[in-house]
Amino acid sequence: QDEQFKKVISHAKEYGYVFPSSEIYDGLSAVYDYGQNGVELKKNIRDYWWKAMVQMHENIVGIDAAIFMHPTTWKASGHVDAFSDPLIDNKDSKKRYRADVLVEDYVAKIETKIEKEVKKAAKRFGDAFDKDQFLATNPRVLGYKEKGDAILKRLAKSLDNEDLADVKTLIEELGIADPETGSKNWTDVKQFNLMFGTKLGASAEHAMDLYLRPETAQGIFVNFLNVQKTGRMKIPFGIAQTGKAFRNEIVARQFIFRMREFEQMEMQFFIKPGTQKEWYEHWKDARIKWHLSLGMGEENYRFHDHEKLAHYADAAADIEFRFPFGFKELEGIHSRTDFDLGKHEEFSGKKLQYFDPELNERYTPYVLETSIGLDRMFLAVLSNSLQEETLEDGSSRTVLRLPAVLAPTKAAILPLVKKDGLPELARKIVDDLKWDFNVQYDEKDAVGRRYRRQDAAGTPFCITVDHQTLEDNTVTLRHRDTMEQERIPINELRNAVLKEVDM
Ligand code: ATP
Repeated sequence: QDEQFKKVISHAKEYGYVFPSSEIYDGLSAVYDYGQNGVELKKNIRDYWWKAMVQMHENIVGIDAAIFMHPTTWKASGHVDAFSDPLIDNKDSKKRYRADVLVEDYVAKIETKIEKEVKKAAKRFGDAFDKDQFLATNPRVLGYKEKGDAILKRLAKSLDNEDLADVKTLIEELGIADPETGSKNWTDVKQFNLMFGTKLGASAEHAMDLYLRPETAQGIFVNFLNVQKTGRMKIPFGIAQTGKAFRNEIVARQFIFRMREFEQMEMQFFIKPGTQKEWYEHWKDARIKWHLSLGMGEENYRFHDHEKLAHYADAAADIEFRFPFGFKELEGIHSRTDFDLGKHEEFSGKKLQYFDPELNERYTPYVLETSIGLDRMFLAVLSNSLQEETLEDGSSRTVLRLPAVLAPTKAAILPLVKKDGLPELARKIVDDLKWDFNVQYDEKDAVGRRYRRQDAAGTPFCITVDHQTLEDNTVTLRHRDTMEQERIPINELRNAVLKEVDM
């Protein structure tokens, strides 16, 4: 698993997808830059989301709110008071950790023990092994499970009650050591706010404290009435937005899974109070269908329904994806009631209500939210697509099986040799197709090597111009995934490619 993840990270760099930020200065932790292919993949994911959410729904419109917002926004939203992680320092190593993550990692180790027991038993019993029965009845496994559950329950309870002293006691009772140095000399646990602060204004006296937004959602809430009135929107309706968000994450070690600067794609759907249950189910269903439409394998997704709810929610579920390091949250679907609009009414003194012409009454709408991290989706797509294949002749190839609609370059046009007028003809095809999708011209190296390069970069089609092309105006169209080649007339190329890559 670790090996696979390392491969993804180095492949992302080698093929111009993701670079460490300011790398010539040794990088900046948990900040990344997207390269020439990465920027295209990211744009295609964003477009694929926008089309599904905005273009396909006449009652959902988009906005692009500023990253800076009036500071009271973040008091109203609860972020100033409650958007924090519990931190603990090791007194000897001076290293800082998230206290909850230390405990969760400890429990994850117990889960690894269970997996080991399962493997051992499976080996011993062979075909007769029944995993479910083993998990449900084996005393050793049950003991582990009970211990893990009890720890997580206590952690959740202490955090809920803001009992940070107990979180420290728990860490000490479990004998959790600094993962890097082994020291068990811990400080008290403290809450640490995740928002980045900055200042607006030139003179120190008149400067105003601002935050970089930690989520895009609040830009939608504060514009609720602007959009509703100017767009003459009728409830139910939605407002969608994509854009940067910033969090001073402490545990930031999983490549672009958890970044300090990242992009979100959020949609707030405004509904009549009392209808939240049906809309919650509706959006859970719609969002999982969106994911499955990319064909990345149903078995790689699962729902995780939250039992412990954030202060703003009355129901919440995550769509989890199987990343190289296990199932982890990719998207959240939250039923937020009138918490946000209500708080903004309270703090701004302005009514944020909707007049329902059919009911002839006024109310503060409830909100159903879908929130997905664009970079996290990028990682899901990239890590799921990267494969090492053994071919029939025993050789191997690296192939990036990106969904064709998301691939940065849709087709590479390759003259078989650099003479006899083949490059000129290939250039003409490039000039013809570039109006409809991204294409690339490549004449360097033997054609077999060029195919491999395009496979690894994720290009779904290669178009090869050879001597026969000069005679009958046909080319070979090679498919990345099957490596099959077909001979087709030049004037059928556009439709053959568009059929697969058009969103
Ligand atoms: P996590 O539990 O992983 O920290 P969260 O529950 O805090 O995530 P939300 O606040 O619900 O996340 O944000 C919605 C989505 O934004 C997440 O599902 C995730 O895809 C993305 N996201 C959140 N934090 C980050 C981050 N630091 N880097 C990249 N993506 C992020």
